Amino acid sequence: MRVVLLGPPGVGKGTQAARLSALAGIPHVSTGDMLREAVRKGSPLGRSVRGHVDGGTLVPDEVVGEAIADRLDQEDAAAGFLLDGFPRTIEQVEILDRILKRLGVELSAVVALDAPDSVIVRRLAGRRVCPSCWTVYHLESHPPRSAGVCDLCGSALVQRTDDEEEVIRERLRVYAEQTVAVREAYRERGLLRSVDGAGDANEVFRTLRELVARP
Ligand code: AMP
Repeated sequence: MRVVLLGPPGVGKGTQAARLSALAGIPHVSTGDMLREAVRKGSPLGRSVRGHVDGGTLVPDEVVGEAIADRLDQEDAAAGFLLDGFPRTIEQVEILDRILKRLGVELSAVVALDAPDSVIVRRLAGRRVCPSCWTVYHLESHPPRSAGVCDLCGSALVQRTDDEEEVIRERLRVYAEQTVAVREAYRERGLLRSVDGAGDANEVFRTLRELVARP
């Protein structure tokens, strides 16, 4: 299974991808997580992308392309992978085409998860993450047992800089501007499947699972 999951930030891609990859036994490759981790570690990659990640603008295609090529070369990606957050531009679609060609494999599906902006802003602005173990919470739908504290490791929860409302609006604008073309490219190739991401997460997951299991 080699799946690309598309959708605006906050539509639930990360949650759904994590569940699907666990079920299918394939890695969940999230460029957002990879880049945030690089920033946290202060690696050369992290230092070069920090301004973009914190500001909600796209990292240059060749930088993220190189990171994804390295990741897909790893052994655990040989049996399949679930891409989350990549490709985001037409140039990245072409970069992915070249990587897949070199690996001698093809995508099995491209799934687009969608939801209205109002739903997304509410979801993202309420999101809190644990800076130590990366567990994700939500003030309304998945609050920690004790306010502001991670259930698993007891660290103080934080709001991602890019989950602040002003940054969310910028991310949605960037998404609308650049990613719609990615969707079109995959639609033309007959690979695109659409899923309504506004509903209950379990229902979304059932739909998603059926879609990607279908040949
Ligand atoms: P995400 O968690 O997917 O919303 O990504 C967080 C941030 O990482 C984005 O706002 C971008 O700055 C950067 N990023 C993640 N994936 C990509 C990508 N495919 N191309 C460029 N920048 C990306």
